[in-house]
Amino acid sequence: MIVMKFGGTSVESAAAIERVAGIVKARENRRPVVVVSAMGKTTNRLLAIASAAVAQDRERALSELEQLREYHRKEAAGCVRPQDLAEAEAAIGEHFRELAELVRGLAILGELTPRSVDAISSFGERISSHLVAIAFRNYGIGAAHVDAREVIKTDARHTQAAPLYEVTYSRLAEVVRPLAEKQTVVMGGFIGSTLDGVTTTLGRGGSDFSASIVGAGIGAEEIQIWTDVDGMLTCDPRILPIGRRVKTISFAEAAELAYFGAKVLHPATVVPAVEKNIPVLILNSRRPDVDGTRIVGEPPPCENDVKSIACKKGITVVNIQSLRMLMAHGFLRRIFEVFDRFETPVDLVTTSEVSVSATIDNPERIDGIVEELRGFAEVTIDRDQAIICLVGDNIRFTPGVAGRAFQALNGINVRMISQGASKLNLSVVVSGEDLTKAVEALHTAFFSKLDPAVFD
Ligand code: ASP
Ligand code: MG
Repeated sequence: MIVMKFGGTSVESAAAIERVAGIVKARENRRPVVVVSAMGKTTNRLLAIASAAVAQDRERALSELEQLREYHRKEAAGCVRPQDLAEAEAAIGEHFRELAELVRGLAILGELTPRSVDAISSFGERISSHLVAIAFRNYGIGAAHVDAREVIKTDARHTQAAPLYEVTYSRLAEVVRPLAEKQTVVMGGFIGSTLDGVTTTLGRGGSDFSASIVGAGIGAEEIQIWTDVDGMLTCDPRILPIGRRVKTISFAEAAELAYFGAKVLHPATVVPAVEKNIPVLILNSRRPDVDGTRIVGEPPPCENDVKSIACKKGITVVNIQSLRMLMAHGFLRRIFEVFDRFETPVDLVTTSEVSVSATIDNPERIDGIVEELRGFAEVTIDRDQAIICLVGDNIRFTPGVAGRAFQALNGINVRMISQGASKLNLSVVVSGEDLTKAVEALHTAFFSKLDPAVFD
């Protein structure tokens, strides 16, 4: 049994759903459980509709809801069998009637609670999963739709709910597993419900998490995440299009890369898979024959020291120098209290006896932060910096990786250096202008020769 998860773009249109059906059909003998996201940008559109409704813009909310309904009707009509059209339209009609009621209710209340955000945003996956199950018949797949809310049980932290693993796993084993022995099960990602049956969601982008939970619960042999990239590459294609595909990577390496938005997974999403030691595959639904990237607990040995170079632009570095200089204790605590008060996460930190540099991703509240820090320290900030991060399990065992990195970066001003506690990453901060040049130099240094067992 395998789990196959398809994101929003993979089910955004009739043509996309047809592609998905082809991919699933070809793997039918592996007993797939299919987890889908909402179609295209539906979640964003639903949230915008909810905001318009509470902002007393009821007419706009309802007209946008009408457009969203038209979109679903049109795409559904393009991929279901003629004899199933009435059923698909009835399902869409019913869902959108409920949605319209919700929107009217919100417009009257004028207030959006996390619970109503979940109620509204859940419809994207409720509708998409139902339609995909109906559409599968058109391609000769015997499909059964399961409402994910019946099996994914969560706490009541709306918009960020955490699964109640024990009940969830036993429902998956009792309900989904036996069904999947006979038919292809289709369910929506992202959504769940409390033990009392109130609809919840697992957080934005939560469908990958759902897939991982489902895989763990049914004891899948593999969890496949179908996206629109060939898998993880040796460097970020948005910075430099010379990256090669990484065939196998460890969970720990993948988690390091995830922070950089390397179009893959959020680290939390793979936790259930890690615990059950189920491999997670990243695959491209536009190029299903490419083997993608396999994320496993214990990857095979790799001759290269680095698996991938990740990076992040638009970083702000805050440099903080103690006024009282040497030996003052409590300095770091005071600094971090300031970032904490302004709810601003700090990513990289480097310290010397008298100075600290910290990077932040979101400079929205930088003015307040700087003002408070100036109460006890000298502060300067550098905007438009970039973090470059070398990731690889081997970094911790191989002497000289840092030396090679700095040799490659010769001539480029490196502002900060940090080796993470996990020791499988080495990060440097350079000016945004130097980013491409730096990544290119590092790529040449670490990937001129590739271990064919690990890289494509
Ligand atoms: N549809 C949800 C979102 O857009 C969940 C997902 O796509 O993973 O956040
Ligand atoms: Mg999405």
